This record gives sequence, structure tokens and C-alpha cells, in this order.
Amino acid sequence: MGDLIMGPRLYGCYKCRNHVAIHDDIVSKSFQSKNGRAFLFSHAQNMYSGRKEDRQMMTGLHLVADVHCADCREVLGWKYEKAYEESQKYKEGKFVLEKFKIVKQIW
Ligand SMILES: [Zn+2]
Repeated sequence: MGDLIMGPRLYGCYKCRNHVAIHDDIVSKSFQSKNGRAFLFSHAQNMYSGRKEDRQMMTGLHLVADVHCADCREVLGWKYEKAYEESQKYKEGKFVLEKFKIVKQIW
């Protein structure tokens, strides 16, 4: 008998199941989008970014880009390219994915 190997717990796109993020990369579960709860991830994968635009949010002005699933092209959330306020700088380079648009896959 070998050791039981636990792989990373994956989140997939709710439409096509493309693996887009892993549970251990969650920085915060208390984010909010206009559609409901969202998670902040330090990394994401198998996605591409749309056009960058300044967006006014509850926590101030940010330069963001929508992120799309690389397979089905669904918008799953957004990436913070730049935060203009010092207190929000920790978000830069991180991803927000909407909770209802990602599904647990291998747990
Ligand atoms: Zn997809």
C-alpha cells in the first residue's frame, strides 16, 4: 500500500468544468460582486483577461480586467491590475471569481 496522495482541491468553470483555480490559493472569501459572494484568489489558471478598464468599487477606484474561461469564454470574475489606493494594493495581480460561477471538482 502506498501513501494516500491528496491532490489540490480544484475549482472548475460552472459551464465547462475547465480547471480555473485551486482552493489553497484563496486569499479571502468575503468579497462581493454585484451578483453575490465572490472569492479572492492569488492565482488562477486556464483563463484569459479582457480589456483593462478603471472601475469604481465600494473600496475605491481600481484598474481591472474581466477574466474569461479559456474554454467556453464565460466571464468568471475579474483581475485587479492596479489599485489606486494604498490600502487596496494587496489586491494587485489577484483574481476575484464569482462563487456561483465556480464549482468544486476534486475534493
Ligand atoms: Zn468554461
